[in-house]
Amino acid sequence: MRPWNFSAGPSVLPLEVLQQAAAEMTDWHGCGMSVMEMSHRGKQFMQICDEAEADLRELLAVPDDFAVLFMQGGATAENAILPLNLIGRNGSGKADYVLSGSWSSKSYKEAGRYGDIAVAASSGEAAELDGVRQAPFTWFPAAETWRVRSDAAYVHLCSNETIGGVEFVQWPDLAGLGAPDVPLVVDASSHILSRPIDFSRAGMIYAGAQKNAGPAGVTLVFIRRDLIGHALPICPTAFDYVNVAEAKSMFNTPPTYAIYIAGLVFKWLKRQGGVAGIERANIAKAQALYGYLDESPFYANPVHRPARSRMNVPFILADESLNQAFLADAEQAGLLQLKGHKSVGGMRASIYNAMPLAGVQALVDFMQDFEKRHG
Ligand code: PMP
Repeated sequence: MRPWNFSAGPSVLPLEVLQQAAAEMTDWHGCGMSVMEMSHRGKQFMQICDEAEADLRELLAVPDDFAVLFMQGGATAENAILPLNLIGRNGSGKADYVLSGSWSSKSYKEAGRYGDIAVAASSGEAAELDGVRQAPFTWFPAAETWRVRSDAAYVHLCSNETIGGVEFVQWPDLAGLGAPDVPLVVDASSHILSRPIDFSRAGMIYAGAQKNAGPAGVTLVFIRRDLIGHALPICPTAFDYVNVAEAKSMFNTPPTYAIYIAGLVFKWLKRQGGVAGIERANIAKAQALYGYLDESPFYANPVHRPARSRMNVPFILADESLNQAFLADAEQAGLLQLKGHKSVGGMRASIYNAMPLAGVQALVDFMQDFEKRHG
């Protein structure tokens, strides 16, 4: 049996997908070539890419007025590609950012190279919430508190902070915040395809693939078509959304193998009952793990309950001197990559779509046993 892999990304892929890719490795559907060896303009790869886009659209019910782009450079490059494309949209040169953790802070810093960037809201300070003192970046700033400039070209947030384990899904109607013309732009890298998305609330959504959608190397971009076509003159040609959209993600050679594997993941997701089906599984997994964390005095999750991520579950041991022993024993038990991000310490279990409930159960069983031995 393979070990359970709780890596935050690149992360576990469905075994069925890996097995299919292995079976097709040297000869895709009898054409005598690996997908890696095909021309991206040939009919085989065009079919792979078209199907991947169609399946992705179906899974997330992407409206027709959104373009779906397969890009490169990861979410990190998108942090620059986004202002390069959108900040010139309305002549203000302004964009506002909600800071909720490491990743949104990085996005904010990068955007500062391209315009007048302001903080709309931040959870970078400790706060008293529901009678509990929440440490910085363990909570999400409520939409009512955001200050969005009405002439901002967009407002950005990260809807799942992979390191802090903070998720935000009630995307606000910006008209209610006095900014009806400001589109919401969302970095959804670490929870894309784990639950439905309300496209009526967003202008653009982007996500690196290497958590829930496939291997590293392809970035998924969903952008409302009216937001395309405003790139700054310094925007690299290959990163201008107009060019990428017009060429159907083939402006230059796309990451063909990563798109192919993502396409297999999309088909696997459809077999799981689509996003609704995988969401049910994700809820059950999150309940199993948080339920145990909450009942045990030995472990704790530091995140404000309404903002807890279903995908990334950080936790600490009451006695941190046991951290090394916990990690070593976990690895022995076939539970890999549980070390928390170095910036926050502790542990983190990433329980993405491809992690089955059995894996989460194995983790909880191990944690119980460790608690018995050391508690
Ligand atoms: N945003 C989020 C929410 C992430 O989790 C990550 C990667 N862990 C990134 C951005 C950066 O992604 P990449 O390394 O693909 O550039």
